[in-house]
Amino acid sequence: MLHWHARNRHCGVCGGVVAFDRGGFVGHCAQCGNDHYPRVDPAVIVAVSDGERLLPGRQPGWPPRRWSVLAGFVEPGEAPEQTVVREVHEETRVRVQSCRYPGGQPLPFPGALMLGFEALAHADDPRVDGELEEARWFTREEIGLPALRRDGSEPDGILLAPPISIARALIEHWHGTGAALTPA
Ligand SMILES: [Zn+2]
Repeated sequence: MLHWHARNRHCGVCGGVVAFDRGGFVGHCAQCGNDHYPRVDPAVIVAVSDGERLLPGRQPGWPPRRWSVLAGFVEPGEAPEQTVVREVHEETRVRVQSCRYPGGQPLPFPGALMLGFEALAHADDPRVDGELEEARWFTREEIGLPALRRDGSEPDGILLAPPISIARALIEHWHGTGAALTPA
């Protein structure tokens, strides 16, 4: 919220000074009367499976052995399910058949809303085009229970996102070791 306040001190319509109200959740322009609301950027994060294996990817610059589920921002005019299909295909050329939404997580860095999906895809050979350095199918054994220790590391295994993240929750959920994604 402070990030949003700091970057919205003037009205985007008329340039007037914005005053924040209702606990800071509304910015009101005294000059033209328009109200401004906090920006939230929806993104999908998706555990893609072919029914047996999981399809994580690696971004350039990540530490060795670090893998995570695929993610991307929802574009204007898209439903989140369409984002899942588009992002997975853009990043890996793998074709999603269906997806479901088990839960989400607000990520205030600075204003993302992560929509966590599970997708069933064709067992296509992944091909990356630069956004990802690598993407490939992993079996349950390769993801492995030892790799799901709380520090996220395993000497010879893969490195996963920290336990607090929805990325980790999606992987554990797929693996069959995680709890529900969204607290009741
Ligand atoms: Zn204004």
